[in-house]
Amino acid sequence: MNVTDINLPVAVLGAGPVGLAAAAHLVARGMTPLIFEASENVAGNLATYRHVRLFSPWQYNVDKAALRLLVDAGWPMPAEDDLPAAGEIIDQYLQPLAQLPAIAAHLKLGHRVVQVSRQGFDKVKTRGRELAPFIVRAVTASGEREYFVSAVIDATGTWSHPNPLGASGIDAIGEITHAARIAYGMPDVLGAERHRYAGQRVLVAGSGHSAAGTLIALAQLAEEEPGTTLVWAVRGAAIEKAFGGGSADGLPARGALGTRLKALQASGKLEIHTRFRIHALEVEGNALRVVGDEVDGNSPVIDGVDQIVASTGARPNLELTRELRVRHDPWLESTDALAPLIDPNEHSCGTVRPHGHRELAHPEPGYYAVGAKSYGRATNFLMATGYEQVRSVVAALAGDLAQADDVQLELPETGVCSTRLEYGVQLTPTSCCGGPAPAGSAACCVQDADAKTQGKAGCGCSDPVPSLKAKSCCA
Ligand SMILES: Cc1cc2nc3c(=O)[nH]c(=O)nc-3n(C[C@H](O)[C@H](O)[C@H](O)COP(=O)(O)OP(=O)(O)OC[C@H]3O[C@@H](n4cnc5c(N)ncnc54)[C@H](O)[C@@H]3O)c2cc1C
Repeated sequence: MNVTDINLPVAVLGAGPVGLAAAAHLVARGMTPLIFEASENVAGNLATYRHVRLFSPWQYNVDKAALRLLVDAGWPMPAEDDLPAAGEIIDQYLQPLAQLPAIAAHLKLGHRVVQVSRQGFDKVKTRGRELAPFIVRAVTASGEREYFVSAVIDATGTWSHPNPLGASGIDAIGEITHAARIAYGMPDVLGAERHRYAGQRVLVAGSGHSAAGTLIALAQLAEEEPGTTLVWAVRGAAIEKAFGGGSADGLPARGALGTRLKALQASGKLEIHTRFRIHALEVEGNALRVVGDEVDGNSPVIDGVDQIVASTGARPNLELTRELRVRHDPWLESTDALAPLIDPNEHSCGTVRPHGHRELAHPEPGYYAVGAKSYGRATNFLMATGYEQVRSVVAALAGDLAQADDVQLELPETGVCSTRLEYGVQLTPTSCCGGPAPAGSAACCVQDADAKTQGKAGCGCSDPVPSLKAKSCCA
């Protein structure tokens, strides 16, 4: 017997898409969720980029257990191929889901979880530990509250903990002093935040999809608002990675983003600084001077910056579980066993091997990190991956190991081998991952590397044409 056999609810931390999916799976199995959300409404992280159109269509964005609950309540599923904006995911899917009585009765909005532990046990104490309920401590408008639960599914994401501007992973010198000029994530530059960026010289730092999306929106602003100028700083020597897979991308909207960014570069309206590793922010008259780390004996600078958008990724909040026995990958801060499957240093495909409760488990029985948080600092997470994660985890908590172990994952094939594209290697029609085999690959990527060495397509790819629904990276 362990504490999950005791009749206590299962805590779900975070009411984002994956947390609410976990709650739906718990309800479907007759278990009781207790859902904690820091914001006053569900999906507090998605709400910060409501204006952004997602690149995955509805068919990949709705969890199956949630769909069953919603359809039973008369909910019309949006057209499968339509691309929703983040705000539409909230308004048309997550909000209706959260309002179903089976979920709403157990949803605690305005509850920011700050600590999780086991009742009467600090991290060191072992004997009887697995029988002790978890304590979830939350900060609310009316003070601190504590709840006792049998298990914890941590779906708090990473978005609310952005990486700093500093290229070494710590704040750039002056970053805190000049915080008023810095926005993290994807500000609504064409809508609510327009006044802040109109007519300004705006620096975007970062090379991922968020940076690309913000630059394209700023380019439109520059056409509408005279005096708006765009600067893009990336740490790497090449910017091809940010252009993505173009027409080869399994998610066309994501491919199109890169294509538009490439056109913006070609137009000459974008000032680009490669190998620019931000070190310090200094005052220069009414603006900022952004100073980079020394390259070839020179300290590069970008002058006259009015506003900065830091699209530098995010990291998980590991403080939350300081008193639990957790094991993270030392680089990615992902759940440890997951790291070889997703490591952007090694992984050559956007596809991910199906994984479930076993890869997501920690030494602390009954605690699972899922969703974007389970990936730590890796950015290749998709909602569809999280939905399969929570299906497996909830089945394991219910004691249904047959279902828990039967993990399936059908993701759109990205068609991009990002590590290769960084070096400008072209895609080939017979290999969606393209280019030579990556050296020193681990886990599933060993098969990818072996296949490529033998001249075959890499994992997640099918000869001769890349599949749209690659079932798994290495299956
Ligand atoms: C700009 C952008 C575009 C994206 N586009 C796509 C796409 O097209 N398709 C796709 O599949 N994925 C996309 N993603 C990836 C996306 O992050 C995830 O798919 C999804 O939002 C992750 O869901 P999640 O539930 O794990 O985490 P989140 O959505 O981050 O949700 C976490 C929730 O936990 C809450 N929370 C955080 N801390 C606490 C706390 N301490 N206590 C209580 N609650 C807390 C937050 O308020 C939030 O509601 C995109 C991401 C970004 C940033």
